Amino acid sequence: MSATEQDLKNSKVVFVIGGPGSGKGTQCANIVRDFGFCHLSSGDLLRDEVKSGSERGNRLNAIMEKGELVPMEEVLGLLKDAIVSNLTKTKCFLIDGYPRELEQGVRFESEIVPCTNVLYFDVSDATMTSRLLERGKSSGRVDDNEATIKKRLDTFHNQTKPVISFYERQGKVQKVSAETGIDQVYTEVKKFMDSKQW
Ligand code: ADP
Ligand code: MG
Repeated sequence: MSATEQDLKNSKVVFVIGGPGSGKGTQCANIVRDFGFCHLSSGDLLRDEVKSGSERGNRLNAIMEKGELVPMEEVLGLLKDAIVSNLTKTKCFLIDGYPRELEQGVRFESEIVPCTNVLYFDVSDATMTSRLLERGKSSGRVDDNEATIKKRLDTFHNQTKPVISFYERQGKVQKVSAETGIDQVYTEVKKFMDSKQW
């Protein structure tokens, strides 16, 4: 096994899962500030690829516009590269917005490392929708509009919810109600983070 592969196997990964607008990015920023994790958002990595203007980026953008999931290989490759390039700085990673379907989790864990925990932000569709419509006023994101939000919520319920059940059966899921304000949610998140030996 190469040095990098060994380092990958020794890294700690927390999957951060929740519907669109559940507050994943917001809470990950707090965790980074207090716990020094490296935060990797699959959506941000994909949007960076789109910004590069590449042919691949254009293909990805068309899928995101429809509120669908991009092919697993695309995301997994981007995540793995990002983890490897941050390994010199930390061994603790927040993987935000991934896995979004069961197969993504299985492949990540066999190719990189099994996750330590899953942090799940539980929020009603109504709350997610209103937060996303608000975010859409300034985000410039192609998917923060009413029609795409509906599709993204469907995708979440149909494809991502089974991921949560899968990890619940392994006793790895920490569910946080994220219906309340940002600070209140973070109080719960911090309790969980504080209780762990990273
Ligand atoms: P995600 O990364 O899960 O899609 P974000 O962290 O981008 O979600 O949050 C979506 C929007 O909702 C942002 O504009 C953010 O400011 C707002 N937001 C996040 N968490 C809360 C909360 N607990 N209460 C109110 N607004 C929130
Ligand atoms: Mg996000």
